[in-house]
Amino acid sequence: MYVSHLESALDGTRFEAGKVHTVHQGRPLWVRYRLDEVKKAVQPTDLLHRSATLWRYRELLPLPADAEPVTLGEGGTPILPCPRLGKELGLSRLWIKDESQLPTGSFKSRGMTVAVSMASALGIKRLALPTAGNAGGACAAYAARAGMEVFIFMPDDTPRINQMEAHLAGAKVFLVNGLITDCGRIVRDFAEKMGWFDLSTLKEPYRVEGKKTMGLELAEQLGWRLPDAILYPTGGGTGLIGMWKGFQELRALGWLKEEKMPRLISCQSDGCAPIVRAFEAGERFAEPFENAHTQASGLRVPAAVGDFMILDAVRQSGGCAVAGRENRIVEWMQRVMSLEGIAVCPETAVCFDCLEQLVRGKKIAADDEIVVFNTGAAQKYPEIIPLDLPKLDKDDPRW
Ligand SMILES: *Cc1c(COP(=O)(O)O)cnc(C)c1O
Repeated sequence: MYVSHLESALDGTRFEAGKVHTVHQGRPLWVRYRLDEVKKAVQPTDLLHRSATLWRYRELLPLPADAEPVTLGEGGTPILPCPRLGKELGLSRLWIKDESQLPTGSFKSRGMTVAVSMASALGIKRLALPTAGNAGGACAAYAARAGMEVFIFMPDDTPRINQMEAHLAGAKVFLVNGLITDCGRIVRDFAEKMGWFDLSTLKEPYRVEGKKTMGLELAEQLGWRLPDAILYPTGGGTGLIGMWKGFQELRALGWLKEEKMPRLISCQSDGCAPIVRAFEAGERFAEPFENAHTQASGLRVPAAVGDFMILDAVRQSGGCAVAGRENRIVEWMQRVMSLEGIAVCPETAVCFDCLEQLVRGKKIAADDEIVVFNTGAAQKYPEIIPLDLPKLDKDDPRW
């Protein structure tokens, strides 16, 4: 294990590795590695012989070398070219990295395999999680695999499939008549009394390490280089923050063939866009977004504890934060799937509305290499697709 220490993202306060950690002054911790030792221990070519799961990046993950990962074979998602959609948008190099093909149908499994593995290695027996949807399903699945108990709190309008998958995996699931922030408050207030370890986004340091592997994998799949821009749907922000951290680690290891870093484009729905608002106002911290509403349940995060980490990453990368139109979500889901056969989730549909705006505004050039992350499967959101299909009568004499 190459972890040197943990470090407050807010003020750099150091914490010892190998202990249970949460937050410092309510804000997240970074896991830091002895990258000079990693560099000596492993070369990019060594990875060629390893499994296609994200555990191939074991030296850049926090799990002690003698601990077995809690895994469902997550990782190795394809980067799919999108020539037809690209042509309509005026882009010659458009790609989707399809995270919907992961266990439990979303990229949340990357964070959960690492967080649950770490919790298990640290002797934690009881987890709790507030979730807007997919994190609950993933957490429940990995907890089941680890034989751990888990309590999950979700808004009562969370997609039914997320409720179902958590329930099927044996989690104790509760529906709350509020937002993910209300669910988070319940977990916080009862954690001590109930003996829960709070697995909330960025309230423990390891989910983001798992999500970082999206960035490592992207670089490896592209031959150790990175695209011009990445569009990522942003809720709590771990995906974006994690990828940016991964890129810095790869750069420090000297594994990247080009110095160029991609511009990170943080995409939110105009129904819940706290990060976009803070970006536009030049702020480092985001005000809570009032009356947050969006069908893209993963983006329904009115206040994110890692807001400054998202905004720092976006600004350092030379990228931006953009709001896509809520009322175009279903249209984009249909457009992308009908042109490319890729079932994009509503969160990713928002990215395409942002992408169209950026191309029109000349913020993205026609020959830029663009990667859009499809963070989840359309199939998990049946209730948002209006269906009025023609019906045939089997007894009609015309057939
Ligand atoms: C959770 C989620 C997001 C938001 O991800 P963050 O890393 O929390 O910003 C986006 N899309 C889907 C499908 C999600 O489940």
